[in-house]
Amino acid sequence: MLDYESDHYCPAYKRVIDIDLCYDSLMGLSKSVKISSVKELSGIKDIEEARRVCAECPYSDLGAGMDDWEIAPDLL
Ligand code: SF4
Repeated sequence: MLDYESDHYCPAYKRVIDIDLCYDSLMGLSKSVKISSVKELSGIKDIEEARRVCAECPYSDLGAGMDDWEIAPDLL
């Protein structure tokens, strides 16, 4: 299971980043916020490649597999 609270290697930046930068970058690369609002993203030459890499990165799954969870019947 991924640790979403710890620094981790980012395949888009090709270095270890902290969770705040991961979240902000994910928002930028998924077009939820403007790329220009995340200054670190300006250091990435190929943004389209970074978007593709980020979409496939397990850390981009903020639901962390919760789709697979069974919901207790009394919560339905
Ligand atoms: S989700 Fe995106 S920004 Fe976060 S580590 Fe993966 S590639 Fe990097």
